Amino acid sequence: MIYRPSPNFDLRRHPVSMLVLHYTGMQSAAAALDRLTDPTAKVSAHWAVAEDGQIICLVDEGQRAWHAGKAWWRGITDVNSASIGIEIVNPGHEFGYRPFPADQMASVEQLVSAAVARFKIHPSNVVGHSDVAPARKDDPGELFDWPRLARIGLAVPVPSAGFDPNWTDEGTLAALARYGYDITRPTAAVVAFQRRFRPERFDGSIDAETRTILRGLLTQ
Ligand SMILES: [Zn+2]
Repeated sequence: MIYRPSPNFDLRRHPVSMLVLHYTGMQSAAAALDRLTDPTAKVSAHWAVAEDGQIICLVDEGQRAWHAGKAWWRGITDVNSASIGIEIVNPGHEFGYRPFPADQMASVEQLVSAAVARFKIHPSNVVGHSDVAPARKDDPGELFDWPRLARIGLAVPVPSAGFDPNWTDEGTLAALARYGYDITRPTAAVVAFQRRFRPERFDGSIDAETRTILRGLLTQ
């Protein structure tokens, strides 16, 4: 592990109940780390994970790191105060989005596992940045290996079976809000949900499979 302390943190105002995963979305790991430690950028995370699996410690988990920005999840508006933030090095959709290597995922898994155990975070509160800021963010994106985390109970698995509840679109959005999403921008919320739970197609249109998955999540 490498220590690369960031000055970009302050005091938590909530106990930790969430974990937010990001990609760095910059052309290189070096550029991302420079930004995450730049006092004028005012952004940070608790951890960063390089593509070779190297773990970089930026902010102590007891402090409030600045990674989520304007966000909302299950009634929490100050997501930074309630969460651990992990930045995963990847160029992102802007600079050549690519799969997250196995070595990198192994380190992500290690960090998530430790934080979940330490703070007793519920798997449904292990989320992506796009889940808590659907109108602004796409990270960590559809290539992120959520199934790997779900297999060992660190994230919610996609429900394997179920039926289409045939909700109206309005009813589906209400269900999405009940699950935890900010539905202020409805299509963006549906895209974020699909990117997380049905990454093969995230066009934002509410279809039978989307309703079936959502119903499964709310009833399991
Ligand atoms: Zn992010």
